Amino acid sequence: MSRTDVKEEILRLREELTHHNYLYYVKDEPVISDKEFDDMLSHLSSLERQYPQYDDPTSPTRRVGGEVTSEFNTVKHRHRMYSLDNTYSREELAEFDARVRKELGEGEKVDYVLELKYDGASISLTYENGKLKRAETRGDGVQGDDITVNARTIRSIPLVLKGDYPPVFDIRGEVILPVEEFEKINTQREIDGESLYANPRNLASGSLKLQDSSEVARRHLDCLLYYVVEDSITIPTQYGCLEKAREWGFKVPEYSKVAHSLGEVYEYIEHWDKARHSLPYQTDGIVIKVNSVAQQSRLGYTAKSPRWAVAYKFSPERESTTLESISYQVGRTGAITPVANLNPAVALGGTMVRRASLHNADQIARLDIRVGDTVYVEKGGEIIPKIVGVDISSRSEDSSPTSYITHCPVCGTRLVRIEGEALHYCPNDTHCPPQIKGRIEHFASRKAMDIESLGEQNVSALVDAHLLESYADLYTLDYKKLIGLTIDVSTDGKKRSFQKRSVERLVEAINESKNIPFERVLYAIGIRYVGDTTARKLARYFKSIDALMAATREELLRVDEVGEKIADSILSYFADERHVEEIARLKEYGVQLEIKNDMGEAAKSNLLGGKSYVVSGKFSISRDSLKELIEKHGGRNVSSVSASTDYLIAGEAMGPAKALKAQNLGIKIISEQEFMAMISSQEENVPEIQEEPPATTIETNAHTADEQLSLF
Ligand code: AMP
Ligand code: ZN
Repeated sequence: MSRTDVKEEILRLREELTHHNYLYYVKDEPVISDKEFDDMLSHLSSLERQYPQYDDPTSPTRRVGGEVTSEFNTVKHRHRMYSLDNTYSREELAEFDARVRKELGEGEKVDYVLELKYDGASISLTYENGKLKRAETRGDGVQGDDITVNARTIRSIPLVLKGDYPPVFDIRGEVILPVEEFEKINTQREIDGESLYANPRNLASGSLKLQDSSEVARRHLDCLLYYVVEDSITIPTQYGCLEKAREWGFKVPEYSKVAHSLGEVYEYIEHWDKARHSLPYQTDGIVIKVNSVAQQSRLGYTAKSPRWAVAYKFSPERESTTLESISYQVGRTGAITPVANLNPAVALGGTMVRRASLHNADQIARLDIRVGDTVYVEKGGEIIPKIVGVDISSRSEDSSPTSYITHCPVCGTRLVRIEGEALHYCPNDTHCPPQIKGRIEHFASRKAMDIESLGEQNVSALVDAHLLESYADLYTLDYKKLIGLTIDVSTDGKKRSFQKRSVERLVEAINESKNIPFERVLYAIGIRYVGDTTARKLARYFKSIDALMAATREELLRVDEVGEKIADSILSYFADERHVEEIARLKEYGVQLEIKNDMGEAAKSNLLGGKSYVVSGKFSISRDSLKELIEKHGGRNVSSVSASTDYLIAGEAMGPAKALKAQNLGIKIISEQEFMAMISSQEENVPEIQEEPPATTIETNAHTADEQLSLF
């Protein structure tokens, strides 16, 4: 294939992928299978790697992220980002309407556009000639952070537009996290023993500021647009702008409506106050905007907000009921959560609420919550309903303050409370059943050993039957032990037992997990703070669990992205004899505890001969791609310059401190071009590209392949 053919092929793939991305993420109407999409994407990705000269920041391959930003630049918005005045009642809305009409002159016809108020993080996007140029957070309204690299990973934000868009314009919207994704992330964090996010809004705005854009890509954020800002805009109405933006490829929810009277505004509010609970994302109100752009400009702005729009906030639902009892749950890390059992159940947010969070001992004491009290329950922005107060006046004479438990309700061990933390913990990590179950569930989870039939229920049944005490015990299970075993299904009261087929499937899945590569095993064993990305980096650096276990603190810190917190956590993990024993057992059972020298490895070159490299600054390709090239050719990535570093690859805008340190230590500083020349003796042996990507590209790279599976 000639160079021009390659270029054409790249452009064709980009266009096609952009179209399918749109059908999938904006329209929610995919026409090709996920597999077809993935194949096309990895084909494009491998072409782009071989021909970096055709790189384009709006390529669909950029959606998986990879660029790391240590500090976001502050940028001034092209147009100020105003906030909205809030109203909470029909009266306040009527006042707004009266003000608008008075300002515009009696008798003038006013239409309003009604929109949902999406509860997320506001974002401003600038497009130039139909390409995403920049994405900014709101900041203080005058200036915000440039988060373009992260925004590119949000699939519903078009990187390239279609139709008759203006040459330059800004568009505003809200980055939101669907409730289902929010719950998935929190469940995973619970399994990993991390603290939980309070609500989707916080998680969405936190995600926009993550340094590692591939992490953002994994969050499945969505972006809903609601406002086109352009001085010379020729579209006469807000409603028309929404329709146009939709045509250009933006995700603009179909729920907006034009209202001709206040009555219609109230109807819309009444409808959505209930219907919002069945939307996939959270809304905290509606926004009422004057439809005519000409009227909007006559009304203008106050110092803070437009005079032509106002928000109406739904009131958080609050109900009162009786606190029947308090129960205490033991989490996977041993954390104790007090839960209120309510009777009768109350209807909130479209569901019947029987239980509510009491947070922790301090909260119970602060509100003086007691069993038998009439309590107020609210479901606000938080997903989990909470007790917000007590009706002291109806408290009975003989009630007494709640005394918090002192011992684990499951295993009876005395609870501990760590300085400065609000929660109590059960310290019996090895024998407390919920903690054992949590670790095994994590071990079996999809991103770890992927033992599919080992969900929460089955793990629970196996632990209760004393067949499992740790994850290594999984490999001692066989058909005989499992067949006929009873599984308690407390939710519907029915009992089930393991049947032939499910036993066979489980045994096979456990057996197959012995083929799971070392980097995922390392994630599965659940070292605190070692998530899947860190596990991958550690596995590639040390190559075997033995080498990792023998590593000193200094050595650990040399690994890319491993800081002190992680290094210490690894050291303390392996300092525990029980963990060492368990790993010895895994090894005995044939679980992968080192990187296998299989096909993928064999296909690598050893041009870089095990030398260590630090990359710093910006390059024409993403830093992750550069690091992959280093590994692919037998080099090692290290995070900081030290006496044992061989090369520093200096990119654009590299920090001067690093350069100086490297110079002082006599480390060779090379440019991206020089590095490319070092590995090119091999690359140039492949003048023609092959139809199928060669074995050394992403297909053999578990990291990227895995990501693509979960992302598309
Ligand atoms: P507040 O943060 O309470 O001042 O509300 C103003 C914010 O609501 C805006 O900055 C937007 O981020 C957000 N918002 C959500 N949905 C809409 C919408 N349909 N129209 C305008 N603003 C919206
Ligand atoms: Zn316990």
